[in-house]
Amino acid sequence: MDLKIKPEIEEILQQALKRRITEEEALKLMNSSSEELFAIAITADRLRKSRAGDVVTYVINRNINFTNVCVSDCEFCAFRRNKSDADAYLLSIEQVVEKSREAKKLGATEVCIQGGLHPSLNADYYSDIIKAIKRNVEIHVHAFSPMEISYAAEKSGMGIRKTLEYLKESGLDSMPGTAAEILDDGIRSTICPKKLKSREWIKIVEEAHRLGIPTTATMLYGHVESAEKQIKHLKILRDIQEKTKSFTEFVPLSFVHFNTPLYRSGKSKGGATGIEDIRVYAASRIFLDNFRNIQASWVKLGRKLAQVMLKFGANDLGGTLMEENISRTAGSAVNIPDKKELERMIIEAGRIPRQRDTLYNLI
Ligand code: SF4
Repeated sequence: MDLKIKPEIEEILQQALKRRITEEEALKLMNSSSEELFAIAITADRLRKSRAGDVVTYVINRNINFTNVCVSDCEFCAFRRNKSDADAYLLSIEQVVEKSREAKKLGATEVCIQGGLHPSLNADYYSDIIKAIKRNVEIHVHAFSPMEISYAAEKSGMGIRKTLEYLKESGLDSMPGTAAEILDDGIRSTICPKKLKSREWIKIVEEAHRLGIPTTATMLYGHVESAEKQIKHLKILRDIQEKTKSFTEFVPLSFVHFNTPLYRSGKSKGGATGIEDIRVYAASRIFLDNFRNIQASWVKLGRKLAQVMLKFGANDLGGTLMEENISRTAGSAVNIPDKKELERMIIEAGRIPRQRDTLYNLI
């Protein structure tokens, strides 16, 4: 195959094997042609191998979305409901514990708990959920996005630090780094105007890390953002990681658009194309030189493209989830894979499958 690669892209890829690349260089990778993508992928894969080796990990976990009632109105969200809607729900704490118990029986090492911003709940409720699980089930509690922490702090009249300390004392083990979307307030004012601002997301994540609560790092892409904004977002994550070293992984989240107000009102494009997905994964692997783990999200990409990402910089396939509501309501039709299916995907990609816990210890 005769690939046309610009000399400046070749030079950036050479340099990436020796040193950290700059935002300007990363932007050139994000704006590269589809032919150049193969060369970028080779570098991303070499860096994946040197940073994370040939083992591809996955976690057996269960998603528990305890409520779909939300006072916010993020335009990319098809999951939220008003309290008065016929299909609005709020699980009882007993139901959350029962789901955790079932998950443990099925081999899960983690429950991932997130929900809408319910007007009747506060930090005490979040604490009660964690304590009830911890009393009844021996399992890692990965819970509450920075948005939920911000909301709980506000509803309870506590500061961010006090809320995080309170939840940590209750048994919170780690947090999802969701609600990051794109860390740019201009973009946020279009896609999630009521959500916490970029600076607050950064503050909560850094505070959590200082308190010994690790988080994931995410980026929702493929809607209204530009490549410049993607790089700005990645730079913020790289800078936080430089300070705290407490991001467990980076998870690029490809926008599932079908049923969302953002897409239906014509404000966004219909998600990223496959080539854009690959470009984001490969460029992220190259740019985020202080992240060991890049997770391919089968929920967002579908199983087939998620598997392909193992050749484009990813070294983790995420969790078995057991139930998934956020992307399904947005229009994703992906079937949930079990452990055997995830392992088959990994082996077919020429890698070694290993189960891990939330903090990437191999099991
Ligand atoms: S993304 Fe979360 S905060 Fe935003 S509307 Fe949906 S449930 Fe509410």
